[in-house]
Formats: sequence, C-alpha cells, structure tokens
Amino acid sequence: MQQTFTIAETWDLLDRARAEGLRIGLVPTMGFLHQGHASLIRASAAENDLTLTTIFVNPLQFAADEDLSDYPRDLERDFALCEQAGANIVLTPSVDEMYPLPILTEVAVNDLSSAMEGAQRPTHFAGVTTVVAKLFNIGGRCRAYFGEKDYQQLAIVRRMALDLNFPVEVIGCPIIREANGLAMSSRNTYLSPEEFDAAGVLNRSLKSAVALAEAGETDVEVVRRHIIDMIETESAVSSPDYVAIVDAATLQPIERMAGDVRIILAAQVGRPRLLDNIGVTLPA
Ligand code: AMP
Repeated sequence: MQQTFTIAETWDLLDRARAEGLRIGLVPTMGFLHQGHASLIRASAAENDLTLTTIFVNPLQFAADEDLSDYPRDLERDFALCEQAGANIVLTPSVDEMYPLPILTEVAVNDLSSAMEGAQRPTHFAGVTTVVAKLFNIGGRCRAYFGEKDYQQLAIVRRMALDLNFPVEVIGCPIIREANGLAMSSRNTYLSPEEFDAAGVLNRSLKSAVALAEAGETDVEVVRRHIIDMIETESAVSSPDYVAIVDAATLQPIERMAGDVRIILAAQVGRPRLLDNIGVTLPA
C-alpha cells in the first residue's frame, strides 16, 4: 500500500495504472475508520484492480458551530485498517492541498439537498458535493463506493455524477452495525457507554416500523408515530430531529406505505447527532 499526500502524485499513479488497463475503485472518507469504511474498501478491492482510499476531514461541510476542530483522528490506525481491507493507495491531502485558495466554486444538487439533513444543516451538502466533485476529478474514471448509512448523501452524489457526467459509477453499500444495531460511525466515539447502549433504540425502532408495515399498516403517520414513541422511551436519546418516510429512489415523501420505501431518521444522543435508515419493499 502506498501513501500519497498530493493530488499530482496520485494522478501519476492512477494514470500509470489505467495505462496498464487496471480498473480503479475510489473510497472517500473522513478517517477515524471503522468496519463500515472497511466494508467499502473491501467491496472496491473485490470489484477493481486498484483501490484509492482518501482520508480528508473536509472543512467545507462543517458549519461554524460543528465539530471540525475536534473531529476524531487516528491516521496510524486508519492506515493499518486500509491495508488490511485491501486499499492500494491512501491519499491524505492537507487542507492547503485541497483548497490552495479560498474556494469560489461550489457544486450543489438542488431539491435533494433541502430536506432531512439539508434542513438541519443548510450548508452541509454543498460542502459534501463540492469536495466529492474534487475527489471524482482526482479519481478519474472509476467506481466510487459510498455507504447507505448516509442515504441522502448517497442519492445526492449519485445524482451529481449523472447530472455532471463524471466518469464515475457510484455504488451504494449496506450499513455495518454494532452488536446492538447502532450504525457504526466515527462520531460514536463521543458516546458514553450508557448512551451507546441507549442508541440501539434507533435501529430497533426502524426494524419495528418495517415489521408494522409488513403486517399491513399503510398509514405513514402511524408508522412515523410508532418510531417516535419507541425512541422517546429512551431518556438518553432526544426526540428525533426528523423521521422521514420517503420513496427510496426519489427521496420524496410518500403518502401510503407502498412500493420501495426508505425510512430515514436523525436524533441527538448526548453530543453527536446520529443517523440511521432502513429500506423495505411493500406491495404497490
Ligand atoms: P465518513 O468518513 O463518515 O465521511 O464516511 C465515509 C463513507 O463511509 C461514507 O460513504 C459513509 O456513508 C460510509 N460509512 C460510514 N459509516 C458506515 C457504516 N456504518 N456502514 C457503511 N458505510 C458507512
């Protein structure tokens, strides 16, 4: 595994690999890696000849009052995890390398970015799509792997790649969870042991909602209320910021529980806001 620090040296390596006919996989991350990230690297390594993992805590996607300065970092551990999972190149650019000048260009995906996380964090997705556009220009023609944990982000990135003709096939990968169902996240490190246990209710509430829908409940409001009531039984978990029940492809709210449905929620648990979601296919 090779470590790179600059975009130019990464382009050189990828140009050479492509000249040899190698297929390239790209796994963008913000580091402090866990088994969720490892699953993306493994998926890329299985489907491509060379996997580029990037580790970059992107200032653009953090609002002023968010945790940019103390976002958790452990590069030594990250490199070991990348190597074990099958990455071939790990790019860790500095902020100056990515943003040598204050950036004047922004990539934003309208509509898809305004609800759910976008309503809670109005500048977040433009920061994500701008840096992912840059990473796609660094990766060039490739397959890029993103987690369904950030389901709205995955849909937005997919649409950006389509709208702007990036030569990138965006691939979504399933959510990797802790034993209590909590979706793995770098920010779980902020949780106390009690909060960690309590946060298991997020996934339990989603699974219970799916069971309710599969048993024939078609009223979206009943399903949403069921989730909120379950979460509110855990005092360490705040009432969710949102519970969105949407069409899995368009992310538009649906009126009845039918077809390909995604249930997406966010809730504060102690310091971090945690995201989770689940999919279900119901009779039309
Ligand atoms: P991050 O480092 O949080 O920006 O995440 C980098 C990538 O890993 C994103 O595509 C995330 O959706 C994905 N990811 C994070 N946590 C998980 C998880 N628990 N399961 C699957 N993918 C994940």
